[in-house]
Amino acid sequence: MTQVENKPTTSDTPFVPMEKIVALCKRRGFVYPNSEIYDGVAGIYDFGPLGVELRNNIRRYWWWSMVQMNDNVVGIEGAIITHPRVWEASGHVENFVDRLVDCKNCKRRFRIDHLPAENVIQNKCPECGGELTEPRTFNLLMETYLGVVEGERMKTYLRGEACQNIFLDFVNVVKSSRVQIPFGICQIGKAFRNEVTPGNFLFRQREFEQWDLQFFVHPSEMQQWFDYWKEKRFEWYKGLINHKDRLHFREHGPDELAHYAKQAFDIEYKTILGWQEWEGIHWRQDWDLSRHSEYSHKDLSYTDQNTRERYIPWIVETSGGVDRTFLYLLLDAYEEEPDPAGKESRTVLRLHPAIAPVKVAVLPLQKNKEELVTTARDVYKKLQRLMVAQYDDVANIGRRYRRQDEIGTPYCVTIDFQTLDDRTVTVRERDHMTQVRISIDELPMYLLERVTWQ
Ligand code: ATP
Repeated sequence: MTQVENKPTTSDTPFVPMEKIVALCKRRGFVYPNSEIYDGVAGIYDFGPLGVELRNNIRRYWWWSMVQMNDNVVGIEGAIITHPRVWEASGHVENFVDRLVDCKNCKRRFRIDHLPAENVIQNKCPECGGELTEPRTFNLLMETYLGVVEGERMKTYLRGEACQNIFLDFVNVVKSSRVQIPFGICQIGKAFRNEVTPGNFLFRQREFEQWDLQFFVHPSEMQQWFDYWKEKRFEWYKGLINHKDRLHFREHGPDELAHYAKQAFDIEYKTILGWQEWEGIHWRQDWDLSRHSEYSHKDLSYTDQNTRERYIPWIVETSGGVDRTFLYLLLDAYEEEPDPAGKESRTVLRLHPAIAPVKVAVLPLQKNKEELVTTARDVYKKLQRLMVAQYDDVANIGRRYRRQDEIGTPYCVTIDFQTLDDRTVTVRERDHMTQVRISIDELPMYLLERVTWQ
């Protein structure tokens, strides 16, 4: 897929305030607070008409790049609820905890692992300097119950991370498809965490969606595949953003690494929140399959078809989030720029055309001229079959362009009086506001080449 144009940032390029994105998302129907009429629930959101299009595009593009375009990767879709033993084997029941402190003075709550070291040592609130309480431990797993008869109901959990289904289905995938190591299994799915400090809009939610690749390798090839996926995932994110110098790797220090991990990297992106994780690249070795073998008493080893060697495969994991991608792409794309042609500044979302929720808007120059309207509706109906399109005849043409800029629509097609003479239309491009004249017959192909990934 073509890359988004690089917009080099300098140290004085301002970061987009989160409030601007929250306001735009509500105003234009990307994201709404969940249960708003009941005053909402912290860390849970609904997606509106444009939000659902954007999410679908983000998901589809990930799936296309990871599953469709890789011969040695297949996909699954596992259930949100699994047997409770899964979460014992994975270590979540015991270790999926946050340690929290409260400030006795200002009552703010902090995760200890998010506090600066000096505040932890001095037991001092980073906001007001007040004394902090003793740390308390909270498990993040969300409990639920299966069954209806009291006393016979089984306690289990909404999955705390989506990837466990991949380990559970590993043997089924090997047996039912023709995959051979090295190969990967992908999944996109909801995960639930009782985050004790949800916040920053979609950044830290209680219900969110993750995408994972678990790539199974022979131990001798672990390093090679780890390096391969690390680079590949970095390039994937880089291709989608304008501010390419706001993306980097952060290597985990020895104190952060799991006992089985030789290395781990976060792909981080810099926003108003500072450098924060976008996706993690993890060296999981044979930890997951070995643990599930041990807890289930089932053999999860793999036998090489050629050498007959039997072993537990090692795993490279790449794990990111649909919602965090949604948020970061909006923060990256949002711009308020002075309009050289007009008096007002314009708000524009410079989203990659293939990701943008609406691909094209069809605009008759005037809504009271029947011939213009009939032709415009005809063009719109043809385009609607091929891509998400909008028809808009309300207000002057400049305003209609602005409305589409604000939701990131890459192309606007205007039907004017010349159209009635020679069947050509004006195609106006979002980022540079350049205009070209194209015949109606060529329009579908012209747009498709520019708004799809290939
Ligand atoms: P953190 O340390 O920030 O709590 P994590 O290291 O636990 O995050 P992972 O378990 O590795 O995160 O999850 C993989 C990806 O899922 C993250 O990179 C992020 O994109 C996304 N993610 C994790 N937690 C949340 C959340 N509460 N809300 C939204 N997205 C999340």
